[in-house]
Amino acid sequence: MTITFRGISHKFGDQTALSDINLDVKNGEIVCILGPSGSGKSTLLRIAAGLEPLQKGAILLDDQLMADPVTNPPPEQRPIGLVFQDHVLFPHQTVAENIAFGLRNQSKDQSEAMVKQQLASVDLSGMAQRYPHTLSGGQQQRVALIRALATQPSVMLLDEPFASVDTPLRRKLREQARLTLKAANTPTLMVTHDPEEAMDMADRILVLVEGVAVQLGTPEDLWRSPKGAFVAQTIAGLQLLTGKVQGDKVQTPIGAVPIHRITNLEEGALSRNAIKAGDLKEGATVNLGLRPHTLRLQSASGPAVISDRRFLGQHYLALVTLGDLQIRIETSREEALPIGTFVEINFASVEALIYS
Ligand code: ADP
Ligand code: MG
Repeated sequence: MTITFRGISHKFGDQTALSDINLDVKNGEIVCILGPSGSGKSTLLRIAAGLEPLQKGAILLDDQLMADPVTNPPPEQRPIGLVFQDHVLFPHQTVAENIAFGLRNQSKDQSEAMVKQQLASVDLSGMAQRYPHTLSGGQQQRVALIRALATQPSVMLLDEPFASVDTPLRRKLREQARLTLKAANTPTLMVTHDPEEAMDMADRILVLVEGVAVQLGTPEDLWRSPKGAFVAQTIAGLQLLTGKVQGDKVQTPIGAVPIHRITNLEEGALSRNAIKAGDLKEGATVNLGLRPHTLRLQSASGPAVISDRRFLGQHYLALVTLGDLQIRIETSREEALPIGTFVEINFASVEALIYS
């Protein structure tokens, strides 16, 4: 089964929430919708679920029309499994009853066997007779996931399903959810505002900013060739700077970046080709994104100072202050300089991208 969104646009009053969204999610594929708060992520999911009327465009399941502005079946008539952030389980039913709710068409024996097997698959054997309020948030979310999957939906829609779970557990839940969803081979669309979560869960990521799809690609595509400031900063972790072309360098507020260290993504997409002096017009303004682990610091009389430093296991993160700019630079444990050291930033091995 493939779910296809074709030209979905949506307004609340005269405020545009979604502009011309196009997306295919195939069998067994997990697509994360990533974007800042208010970017239209939940609206897209609610439209697919039938919780919000579809105003413009169409949604298809394989080649069959599921919804358009004329055909708009209610949620219960859509073959869709939903998991939202909270309040997802029936509070007065046990875990087993909650899951069995989706198995009403099966015999009691079949249903019991299925519930047992499903609970085991997410490490919750023994919880069948418990009530939702006696489970942790993470356990409740796992039950919600298998309850939604129990109906064998054609599509799974998850809206920030782990938002109320604390970080270490969230990582484990993601892992488990990904395996469970992959095993079910259902197309899945999951909303998150957390770039790390999207990188961890998704086969592909659709990035929404103010209702516009700014990029759709694998986590690697987005990391290598970010489009726009949001992806460049959040997914690729780039330090964004504006500079001016002067000879064979681009002058930025933190120093001069050699042009041969710069990749122009608009031309090269995934290619790692550096550009040459002359490819950029003298005096032109360019937006650069620098990969922080490719910058080096060297002790000098300035102009910058290490204002803070954090130990992150494999490396140190140095916070370097230069005027009113703060730059994050990852250094190896061997090269780490103490806080208060005056430094110069060395661009000899920098990887810099021009992004639009
Ligand atoms: P996200 O899930 O990305 O945080 P939403 O899809 O919930 O964003 O909302 C997108 C935009 O639409 C926001 O500006 C939000 O305020 C607005 N919005 C969402 N639902 C409604 C509604 N029912 N009525 C009016 N405006 C809404
Ligand atoms: Mg939302």
